[in-house]
Amino acid sequence: MLRDEVTSSETIVVQKFGGTSMGSIERIRSAAGRALAAQAQGHRVVVIVSAMSGETDRLLRLARDVTPIPDARELDALSATGEQVASALMAMAIQSQGGRARSYLGHQLKILTDNSFTKARIRTIDGARVFQSLDAGEIAVVAGFQGVDEDGNITTLGRGGSDTSAVAVAAALSASVCEIFTDVDGVYTTDPNVCSKARKIDRISHEEMLELASLGAKVLQIRSVEMAMKHGVPVHVRSSFSSSPGTVVTGESDLEEVVVTGIAYDKNEARVMLVGVRDQPGVVADIFGKLAEHNVSVDMIIQNVSVADRSGAAALSTDVTFTAGKTDLTRVRDVIDAIAKKVGAESVRFDEDIAKISIVGLGMRSHAGVAAKMFRTLADHGINIQAISTSEIRVSCLVATKYTELAVNALHDAFELDKPPAERAG
Ligand code: ADP
Ligand code: ASP
Ligand code: MG
Repeated sequence: MLRDEVTSSETIVVQKFGGTSMGSIERIRSAAGRALAAQAQGHRVVVIVSAMSGETDRLLRLARDVTPIPDARELDALSATGEQVASALMAMAIQSQGGRARSYLGHQLKILTDNSFTKARIRTIDGARVFQSLDAGEIAVVAGFQGVDEDGNITTLGRGGSDTSAVAVAAALSASVCEIFTDVDGVYTTDPNVCSKARKIDRISHEEMLELASLGAKVLQIRSVEMAMKHGVPVHVRSSFSSSPGTVVTGESDLEEVVVTGIAYDKNEARVMLVGVRDQPGVVADIFGKLAEHNVSVDMIIQNVSVADRSGAAALSTDVTFTAGKTDLTRVRDVIDAIAKKVGAESVRFDEDIAKISIVGLGMRSHAGVAAKMFRTLADHGINIQAISTSEIRVSCLVATKYTELAVNALHDAFELDKPPAERAG
């Protein structure tokens, strides 16, 4: 779909600069220098920019100072301005170093999205404008994070969405590589800002990167990885501040399979518990049907063993617990009383003080005992597990927020992720 837009396929290099890399005029100048250097090497260069660091947060705070639940369309009109400023400054910085550049906003490039404000999905990109720029010897500078819907409304792609803009533009132009320049020099075994022993991964599979991103590793937005996988875009995560080689995100066939590749944590979920729900067919369908109607994406679900109801009558009752994103909590609160009434719940409890800790690795498919080792490690550090979920290549445990750093570091040690894969036991 995106590839149908291709009209030229010379070596196009897409370079995306994140918030920290755009954090000051000096840093913008340095990013502009990188783009010019790539052009001087003979590439046609497209630059995607994020807002200057802290700017998107500042804009969202302004909105919430005006009203606690801002209108989503207006929120996008506001938050997209951060990237507008950044793209114009980047074009000027390139020009000031003797280069030629043009900046483009989402609507100018016809980055067409659906109309889900604040989490829009890209449908198509019209590459014509970029090709005109490239043909004129310019560096095309594109405002990340934003698009436009069919009715001309400004949309945004969700937090961290400039990564997705970059990969989508790279796919639309058949770029030879999409370089993601950020404040760390690649994808690590876990967040290097939380674990000092984190080790840089040279090559990681799409599948593992997808899991890590969806489980909280914000180094790449999950949708950018999905898109890279779907369109076969080579993605290279690198540091803006060094020339170190970074991490290549690639198909899994050429990779050595390690049991645990990385650890992710996510503090953005909340736990909701419906206590004393009638235990009979249809109850769980009622709860999650209603939540789905209100657009709440539920992550983990646990149903406790039934107990005889406290009155001693024959009816059984159970507790149903689920987790959902903190950003969905307002919508949960809007419907939870109606749900509780319908399923006969005695009470509802919310807990926002939780973190999900996950281990990810393709090798889990063929190794037994990985989950057990995770549970044992957490237990040995006195960390209580509140819920568990698994897939073929990951195990996630819900713990109290205060244990996040301890859990990540303990698991990193237990799985010996500080060592090169060949030197790890089992
Ligand atoms: P940018 O503004 O460049 O998009 P982000 O803050 O969105 O940067 O993403 C980079 C950050 O991701 C790093 O500073 C790091 O704290 C965090 N991070 C979390 N998990 C990982 C990981 N496994 N590898 C590298 N960085 C990670
Ligand atoms: N500026 C946006 C954000 O902070 C998009 C991005 O940085 O990728 O979420
Ligand atoms: Mg980011």
